[in-house]
Amino acid sequence: MKVVDFHCDALSKIQLHPNMDFNTDDRLDVTAERMRQGSVALQCFAIFLSKQLGSPNIGHILDQIDIYNTRVVAAGLKPVRFAEDLAQWEKSGGAGSLLALEGADGLEGSLHYLKVCFDLGVRLLGITWNHANWAADGILEPRNGGFTSKGVQLVHLSHELGMILDVSHLSQQGFWELTELSEAARRPFIASHSNAYAICDHVRNLHDEQIQAIIRMNGRIGVTFVPWFVHKGDAASSKHLLQHIEHICALGGESNIIFGSDFDGIEEHLSDLDHCGRYSEWAEMLVKHYPERLVRGWLYENGVGFLREWLPKSK
Ligand SMILES: [Zn+2]
Repeated sequence: MKVVDFHCDALSKIQLHPNMDFNTDDRLDVTAERMRQGSVALQCFAIFLSKQLGSPNIGHILDQIDIYNTRVVAAGLKPVRFAEDLAQWEKSGGAGSLLALEGADGLEGSLHYLKVCFDLGVRLLGITWNHANWAADGILEPRNGGFTSKGVQLVHLSHELGMILDVSHLSQQGFWELTELSEAARRPFIASHSNAYAICDHVRNLHDEQIQAIIRMNGRIGVTFVPWFVHKGDAASSKHLLQHIEHICALGGESNIIFGSDFDGIEEHLSDLDHCGRYSEWAEMLVKHYPERLVRGWLYENGVGFLREWLPKSK
């Protein structure tokens, strides 16, 4: 069964370890070879600026865009930037990729740089990582602030350009402010890699009211494989993920579920879902528990349908 995954950090890992080969290097959770093995047809690659780089700037972002082009796209993963690329990718049956930015920090407060990133193919924007930046507060910021006035401008420009916004890592206050802005603009957002707080009470997970708000706007929730967002206590495995799926479905979100593995962004993995080649086993596990129509939705159609509607239409 074909798979779309909305979050991995392979670019950041390659930036820190330039000798890693995207095609086959098993130090990467996501490689071209493992994507084939797991039937991953479309993968979002996040630009995440590691602390090790020093203070975040546009140069670091451009560096990762270069890594994306020269490693990922060069390995045969077609870049999907517009709805028409998506249609062509679907027709071709080959592998595709999307470019995302995780945290606006490296944009250095510049809306011009947002436009530059958009022109270079970035199509998803996570407003913050865990901490505060110039646009908004992240989820670990104790004061729980929302958006700055410049951050609101960033949201407006994103809506104008057709940049899809991502609330994973954003503060509670930021989430609700963005909900208001997004509802006014009639542009839903996604949480690319977050689970259900009611099942596992980690601060990065979504509360029921947040899940319901995303369902109401017809956004998407990327169920993620980060072990400590999945299950606390003994070894977390894919069977614990089923509870998150079950819970989101119970809230009415069966057509809002997608997956965002966070592969290459984590040091520890679910015991039986530790790289993207294992997506095929995960698909097999899902069809044992749920109708194939739903599983196909979660793995593929819910994500592709959302992109079909919200990627900018044409060049
Ligand atoms: Zn993340």
